[in-house]
Amino acid sequence: MTTYFPESTRNDLDVLVVGYGPVGASLAALLGRYGVRALVIDKMADILLAPRAIALDNEALRILQMAGLTDQSFARIGIQEVNLHCPYLGRFGHINTQGTVDGHPKLVTFYQPDLERALRQQVTTFPNIQVCGELELMDLQQTSEAVTARVRDSSGGEHLIRARYLVGADGASSRVRSLIGQEFQGQTYAEDWLIVDASRRENRAIDHVEFICDPKRPTPHMPAPGGRERWEFMLQPGETREHMEQTETLATLLAPWVQPEDLTIERHAVYRFHARCCDRFQNGRVFLAGDAAHITPPFVGQGLVAGLRDAANLAWKLAWVSQGKATPAILDSYDQERRPHARQMIDLAKMMGRFVMPRSTGSALAIHGFMRLVNLIPPARTYFEELKVKPANRFKRGLFCPGRSRSRIARGGQLAQDLVRTDNQILLSDDLLGDRLTLVGIGIDPQPLLNASLRQSWEAAGGQLLHLGLRGQPRQGTTAFAEIIGNGLVAGAPKGWLAVVRPDRVVMHDGPPAQASALVTASLRMLQY
Ligand SMILES: Cc1cc2nc3c(=O)[nH]c(=O)nc-3n(C[C@H](O)[C@H](O)[C@H](O)COP(=O)(O)OP(=O)(O)OC[C@H]3O[C@@H](n4cnc5c(N)ncnc54)[C@H](O)[C@@H]3O)c2cc1C
Repeated sequence: MTTYFPESTRNDLDVLVVGYGPVGASLAALLGRYGVRALVIDKMADILLAPRAIALDNEALRILQMAGLTDQSFARIGIQEVNLHCPYLGRFGHINTQGTVDGHPKLVTFYQPDLERALRQQVTTFPNIQVCGELELMDLQQTSEAVTARVRDSSGGEHLIRARYLVGADGASSRVRSLIGQEFQGQTYAEDWLIVDASRRENRAIDHVEFICDPKRPTPHMPAPGGRERWEFMLQPGETREHMEQTETLATLLAPWVQPEDLTIERHAVYRFHARCCDRFQNGRVFLAGDAAHITPPFVGQGLVAGLRDAANLAWKLAWVSQGKATPAILDSYDQERRPHARQMIDLAKMMGRFVMPRSTGSALAIHGFMRLVNLIPPARTYFEELKVKPANRFKRGLFCPGRSRSRIARGGQLAQDLVRTDNQILLSDDLLGDRLTLVGIGIDPQPLLNASLRQSWEAAGGQLLHLGLRGQPRQGTTAFAEIIGNGLVAGAPKGWLAVVRPDRVVMHDGPPAQASALVTASLRMLQY
């Protein structure tokens, strides 16, 4: 962490991010990209090494791509399948995670400290982002103009930091959340879990994710990069943290899979899981993101993923407002768009929890038996196997034009991503969309469809034009151009179609070329009112 220390009062900050965990770091990398002047503070000097997130989905990887990370930035293992086993009935559930969506594997495992290091490295590339460790937020006050945070350094000195907006990415025990009067609603599970991460498991770890759904000792189990393997053991009534963390206990727990000499225990920790969310992710100029806003049991690996979705949704809005390209009213759409989906993911994790940790032999037989029967019905099996059970990240309300066009492009959902070819390279389409609002012409150059004055207003609002040519279609005119190679990008769009895409890849509007001016005008209006 850099040793930069803020002056006791700063007046030129757009955003103060409290918390430099993976969500604060992703937000900082995105704010950096959009040119926002931000300061990130964390009460710790370095990243947390405790065993936490291990799985990420394609949506998370797409956001990390947006934040500037590449396939090489941190190691991952592509997971092909997830199996659920019942001790009495055998395998009762199977999830197919083969293949890619939007240019990324459906499921990978990773090592959280590596990801956090990569994000922090990325943040250092932006001169507009300052980072300061060992600085704890103590209090905050907001006015109609700004937020002032009182922070304490490691020697007990106190300082004031003033910023136009503050984001609490300060984790599950968020002080920002308390300071804005938000409490977590939801439930805390009665059971504790022991997480064990082992190393030296190269070529010996399993190659998929399995859940042993034994009511006596539910145990999720999976591989991770760097020759690592993880087991998660639910504690039985009467078992204590101290007992579970003893070397002999660990050896006994792992005995069905591996002998102590065949691994090194790298880290372990006991956690209690929660399924909680707060009522509002925003209070005036203060926002909550990541675990500060919602926490979920890790059964579907969506805690951090949800936090990354928060960062992607909020970062560009803060940038547009700070830079005068949009009205502050658009910030209300953050809570509107993100909270319902975060809640849906928590509900999914709770449902998975019922499969993973049945209360008794009877309930295991009933729940797992029911799932085996469901799997006999092909559409129901596909629903689970192909992850259609996972709630789509598509908003019902928010910063997009409601309604449907005759294309299959979903307003309020994300534009798909796939490969495109420019004059000199093949790349993923998001890398071409970059960090601006984009009027995308699919099979048509959008430039001649707008008059000069509207084009100017679009550019002033951070907009750009992009012509995505259908296969074999040549470049026309001077508009940025790429040829679509992958089939996924605009599947379902008629030839010659327009879509207005936000910097977080959410489709704001779409329609036929004849409506080009109306689409841009309506989008500008949404940013301004
Ligand atoms: C066992 C386990 C397994 C998990 N598995 C998965 C998984 O597979 N996939 C997944 O997506 N998620 C998973 N998660 C969830 C994931 O780990 C979290 O959602 C994620 O780490 C939260 O990141 P964050 O940045 O919001 O919070 P944190 O990582 O908690 O970061 C918060 C930061 O804020 C700082 N801070 C706190 N208070 C202050 C203050 N007052 N002033 C300044 N700084 C402060 C802290 O020091 C910390 O650095 C798992 C969690 C657990 C426990």
